[in-house]
Amino acid sequence: MNEEDKKKIEAYSKKTPLYLSRRKFDDQGTLTEVICSNCKVFKPLSEYYKNKVEIDGIDHKCKICKTKK
Ligand SMILES: [Zn+2]
Repeated sequence: MNEEDKKKIEAYSKKTPLYLSRRKFDDQGTLTEVICSNCKVFKPLSEYYKNKVEIDGIDHKCKICKTKK
């Protein structure tokens, strides 16, 4: 994750506390895990598809939930 992304997320987090509560960051402020909006489980970024519409480019549903329909 590059510096620009970190800053973007940081700025967005201040505006949206809910955003922070759905994400986990490491000591460097790098996004490590996201909670799935469907199964409500924290999963690493590799468990999500990319989605340009989302602020950090990560889908809000995990791959498993996305596949199940
Ligand atoms: Zn899920």
